[in-house]
Amino acid sequence: MMRPGRLAIVVPCYNEEEMLPITSEALRASLDDLQAKGKISSDSFVLFVDDGSKDKTWELIATEHEKYPEKIFGLKLAGNVGHQFALTAGLLTAKDCSDVTISIDADLQDDVHVFDDMMDKYHDGCDIVYGVRNSRKKDTFFKRTTAQGFYKVMSSMGVKTVYNHADFRLMSKRALQAFSEYPERNLFLRGIVPLIGFKTDSVYYERLERVAGESKYPLKKMLALAIEGITSFSVKPISFITGFGIMIVILSFLALIYVLVSYFFHIFGDTQPGWSSLMLSIWFIGGVQLISIGLIGQYIGKIYIEVKQRPRYHIETFLSSEKEKE
Ligand code: UDP
Ligand code: MG
Repeated sequence: MMRPGRLAIVVPCYNEEEMLPITSEALRASLDDLQAKGKISSDSFVLFVDDGSKDKTWELIATEHEKYPEKIFGLKLAGNVGHQFALTAGLLTAKDCSDVTISIDADLQDDVHVFDDMMDKYHDGCDIVYGVRNSRKKDTFFKRTTAQGFYKVMSSMGVKTVYNHADFRLMSKRALQAFSEYPERNLFLRGIVPLIGFKTDSVYYERLERVAGESKYPLKKMLALAIEGITSFSVKPISFITGFGIMIVILSFLALIYVLVSYFFHIFGDTQPGWSSLMLSIWFIGGVQLISIGLIGQYIGKIYIEVKQRPRYHIETFLSSEKEKE
């Protein structure tokens, strides 16, 4: 085994009482399998994060822990904070007692069989491995189109995301360390992880149907996630205002020609007194105002980037003499 291999599988759970026993069994089997193949160490574990569930999820996690104290760990959050924060809580808790983590949803829609490939890539030196869906055949037409539209909008806004990758990924301890340096409250994991860097790869799998229970991501939450993703990663919408303002000012010059021609040559019928000056003012002042708002927006955008206090870089390797390393 090249790299240390204590694996933590992190699973956020919200009202997943129907799934939990099934998921626990499947993940324990995966651990045994990976361990038998020598890809992970024997103290590897599954960490279930209860995101303030209202059903019996936590009781079930506690029971599983009692049955398998070495294999199943549980983390109970004080209230429902949502998938992204629940996952973060799990990852950052696991970071301190593992070498590498894999995050996966409780519904087993993501294929546990690719853990193998993920661990292989980790042993090859990858610090981040994305689980990417081959196809969305199993998703409903609605979910498929909305989700794919989401990735398109994100990339047009300049947000780097991995196409068809949800929060199913492997992260090494040092990738998590880097991640923990992003203190932002507006959390969109799929946008942050690609910013971290390090050796990265993907594994591909067929997304399955939810085994039991129902989706905890209705359209409302999906839209919220999309808006969150765009507004926490991009100040591009602000530039649109400036662009729009410039366009209006250009139009105002066209309006100038139109108005002057009307005024002097009466081509488009007679003009009323006061019309020419009013017309011009509306277009021109409108454009100038939009440019000004955009300009102010540019500064607000900068302030916004600053208050995020994101790390400016992460060091991957430092080649130096032995003395420097202490
Ligand atoms: N989840 C969570 N907190 C929430 C909503 C969801 O921890 O407020 C968990 C949920 O238990 C599941 C994962 O996030 O493990 C993804 O949710 P789901 O499978 O319902 O989303 P979908 O796959 O339909 O997008
Ligand atoms: Mg799901």
